[in-house]
Amino acid sequence: MITTLFNSQVQFFNSGATLSLAFRVQALKKLYKALKRNENLLNEAIFSDFGKSAFENYSTELSTVYSEINEALYSLSFWAAKRKVKTNLANFPGSSYIFRDPFGTALIIGAWNYPYQLTLGPLVPAIAAGNTVFLKPSELSPSCSAVLKKILSEVFDEKHVVVIEGDAGVTSTLLNQPFDKFFFTGSPRVGKIVMKAASEHLASVTLELGGKSPCIVTADANLAMAAKRIVWGKFLNAGQTCIAPDYVIVEKRVEQQLLTLIKQQILKVFGDDASASEAYVRIINQRHFDRICGLIDSSKVFTGGKADAQKLYIEPTVMRDVKLSDAVMQEEIFGPVLPVLSVENRDEVFDLIRNHRNPLALYLFTSSRKYRNQILQRVPFGGGAVNDTVMHFVNPNLPFGGVGYSGMGSYHGKYGFDCFSREKGVVYKATWFEPFMKYPPYNSFKKWLLKFVVE
Ligand code: NAD
Repeated sequence: MITTLFNSQVQFFNSGATLSLAFRVQALKKLYKALKRNENLLNEAIFSDFGKSAFENYSTELSTVYSEINEALYSLSFWAAKRKVKTNLANFPGSSYIFRDPFGTALIIGAWNYPYQLTLGPLVPAIAAGNTVFLKPSELSPSCSAVLKKILSEVFDEKHVVVIEGDAGVTSTLLNQPFDKFFFTGSPRVGKIVMKAASEHLASVTLELGGKSPCIVTADANLAMAAKRIVWGKFLNAGQTCIAPDYVIVEKRVEQQLLTLIKQQILKVFGDDASASEAYVRIINQRHFDRICGLIDSSKVFTGGKADAQKLYIEPTVMRDVKLSDAVMQEEIFGPVLPVLSVENRDEVFDLIRNHRNPLALYLFTSSRKYRNQILQRVPFGGGAVNDTVMHFVNPNLPFGGVGYSGMGSYHGKYGFDCFSREKGVVYKATWFEPFMKYPPYNSFKKWLLKFVVE
């Protein structure tokens, strides 16, 4: 069935049907209207999968998809337009252009933690660029996967966009198809599998992966604001956010002050009992619940630490005096546990960060311009923020993506369109002139003339 569907998409793409801007614009408008129409269903599904509220479904999922669609509708004709560039002397008389071509048939594989944003987010630029699309949501958020299937099959012909539900086995079958573009969001482990598959087809690949994203706080930072923004970025989605600050490194002399402010902020936003807060989501499944609980060392808990397996609930938890050798520092946490490490001297930070290569995000709270510039120059990371967490994600003018272990390629706004299309360089030549020196027989005069023109 997958092969038949794949062939029908290839045929549809080859017919040229997706290439006109009018077709793409209409598809995006249809998508927008269908999402709006079905917001209640989308809310119910995400609540049933991991207790995410309607407010957060809008603020962290649907609003970003709506902005992507609006931005694409507004800018598509500029993004897709052929661009004139300078022509060199060897091509005189002529003119040169860059065209933007869709890849063809694209496969988008999503993660479960933002089940709409991480599937529809890349779907928008894939459609805008003129591709046909197979969309594979994560099986770990089954209600969201089902509702995406329902809505998208009402909007699109399967020849254009189709949702395939299923687990790793289904994904493996998908990966055997010769897609022209592979776009994957998930773990580095599966990212390697996807990249291997893409290499079999010599296809373009974008990987949006994870990692341990550090959050550095210097003694001269605005600590109250740092605590506020760290708590928001860390405990949003109960820490199940790829760009959540994974751990904090703070200068020793303000450690206690920062910890106290963080604790106060947790109490302020989630109350005494976070399980009663509408803004606090559950862990996605038992396996992740057990994994995250296993990372908590109760002797190092500063605040939180309680968990309820029945409800898949883990309290917002902060650990202090954490060392690099602790379990919590061995893997991406992807849950509501915040380890805090302290350093005597801010220069130690560089070595500490290097223990986890290529973080997806980095956050720095400081008022020192010099230190900020040092960190930004010397540390490779996907993207990040100075004096904030997570918010770089919502600026569509910034490319979003990782580097090395945290991914390759980027998307959002125009970067998304670029991600799902390729540049095709073409020179238009006039026919009234042709340099004789291009042609044999070659002689020393032609060589001299060529060197004169080139050098
Ligand atoms: P995952 O890698 O387990 O799964 C992602 C997708 O891969 C799912 O659709 C799943 O069905 C499929 N898959 C799983 N095992 C497979 C296999 N053996 N072969 C083929 N396909 C397989 O990731 P996850 O648990 O859904 O998400 C968590 C990870 O994703 C974290 O590392 C997180 O940091 C990362 N993430 C990154 C971003 C980003 O934008 N960079 C966003 C969200 C999550």
